[in-house]
Amino acid sequence: MSAVIIDAKRIAEEIKAEVASEIKLLVSSGKPKPGLATVLVGDDPASHVYVKSKHKACELVGIESFSYELPASSTQQEVENLVKRLNDDPNVSGILVQMPLPEGLDKYRILSSVAITKDVDGFNPMNLGWLAQKDSKPKFIPCTPAGIMVLLEKTVPSLQGKNAVVLGRSEIVGMPVALLLVRANTTLTICHSKTRNISEIVRQADILVAAIGKPNYVKADWVKPGAVIIDVGINRIDDPTHPKGSRLVGDVSFDEVKEIAGAITPVPGGVGLMTIAMLMSNTLRAAKMSG
Ligand code: NAP
Repeated sequence: MSAVIIDAKRIAEEIKAEVASEIKLLVSSGKPKPGLATVLVGDDPASHVYVKSKHKACELVGIESFSYELPASSTQQEVENLVKRLNDDPNVSGILVQMPLPEGLDKYRILSSVAITKDVDGFNPMNLGWLAQKDSKPKFIPCTPAGIMVLLEKTVPSLQGKNAVVLGRSEIVGMPVALLLVRANTTLTICHSKTRNISEIVRQADILVAAIGKPNYVKADWVKPGAVIIDVGINRIDDPTHPKGSRLVGDVSFDEVKEIAGAITPVPGGVGLMTIAMLMSNTLRAAKMSG
């Protein structure tokens, strides 16, 4: 039987519509619009595309967005000074420093300099640390992992006790989503580039989150029948049949895996849409937190 294709587009649209209507109420009560400041250092083309799509989403939901671009030659102090200025700016509810930063900059120091109440990306080490503490509550949860959890909660009646496998341990996806899955009482295994027998581990998974950045890596015979698959990967592959000569695919061989899995997210049109929706939601939260 073919898997349910998880309708991330609809779920993301619902979240953004809710954010937009809350912002309307906020503004009609005399409060200022929430504001999102993006900090882009250097000229990574993909980062420019991501930042642009975040600004577009802001416009659609009624968030004011402020774009700050610094040259790749910027010093640590210059980037930190900008972040500090944004921390003190009352028009800015949330600050997003686009990753990756150019080589030579200390990303941890920069992420630590984002005010905890404006850390809408959830990458301040303080927020990430709270995620790892059982009884603490982060002010913000990183957007992609938060979006993945929304998709899972809407797809799986109860996560408790399920076997979850996360492929990848990056700070922006793999590790925070693993912490969230543990908080949701799943039994978790994290796989990474040094893991042996990955296919055997994946075969035990009731829930699989693939975030490694390897096109079509997970094959049908790795997947337990009925498993729920969240494909985070975004990989461009050559495809002469496509008008652009290339197309985007995930980390999971979608066409074959969908015949085995119970539910699966598509790429494109899956987790990526949730990331932006959660950023809008986090920015609204930041505005509400600032009163
Ligand atoms: P990353 O920082 O490069 O981390 C990749 C992780 O995968 C690492 O932990 C690495 O292990 C592991 N890995 C690499 N090759 C592997 C293999 N053959 N088997 C098992 N594990 C392997 O990547 P990322 O930033 O987490 O992104 C992962 C993917 O998600 C990319 O395609 C990215 O474009 C996509 N992404 C999508 C969104 C979205 O909104 N949809 C957001 C962020 C990222 P080691 O730690 O051992 O090196």
